[in-house]
Amino acid sequence: MESAKIDACIERLERLYQRMDEEYGRVAGDLEFSCKGCDDNCCDSPFVHHTYIEWIYLIRGIRKMSADNQARLVAASREYLTRINLLRAKGDDPVSMCPLNEGGQCMAYEHRMMICRLHGVPSCINMPAGGKKEFGGCFRCQEIISGKNDFPVLDRTPLLSELAAIERDLLSAAGPKPRVKLSIAEMIIKGEPEL
Ligand code: SF4
Ligand code: SF4
Repeated sequence: MESAKIDACIERLERLYQRMDEEYGRVAGDLEFSCKGCDDNCCDSPFVHHTYIEWIYLIRGIRKMSADNQARLVAASREYLTRINLLRAKGDDPVSMCPLNEGGQCMAYEHRMMICRLHGVPSCINMPAGGKKEFGGCFRCQEIISGKNDFPVLDRTPLLSELAAIERDLLSAAGPKPRVKLSIAEMIIKGEPEL
């Protein structure tokens, strides 16, 4: 597939990520909420991700790291998957720190995924088939909004729609591809997908 097409979709994704960060910042600011001083770290939750464009962008961010760091990251991702699979086999919660989290910091912060950018504040999604899904945010945010009827909420709908539109645009040029359902560790091990 033409690299110019991928680059154009990446530029669109960067603009969308900027919009997500701004919207998140606005809601967090209105709530006087931040992650500062939090003893928890949400990077140990087992999320899966569904788009080729975010996968490509993440791997391109990782490729900016030194060869040593990249090799360390692949090894950490393999260990992560072994740990997660072991926990699942025992019937325990598959909680394990993301391989990209080092000392509480994201090593690929500028390239982190959509869910990493939006988790925390109260949010909602208008479902395509009707109805609305609402999320209260993380436990610290839920404490802030507890007992309040009226508080700022991040509407994820237009952000998700734009992400889906970018993905459609990318795949319309690439042709049919299997659906993505991968953790960050799996994406790191596989490397950039070929389109
Ligand atoms: S999103 Fe909430 S729980 Fe997660 S690190 Fe920030 S304050 Fe803590
Ligand atoms: S990619 Fe970064 S922000 Fe997202 S879970 Fe991993 S360490 Fe956390």
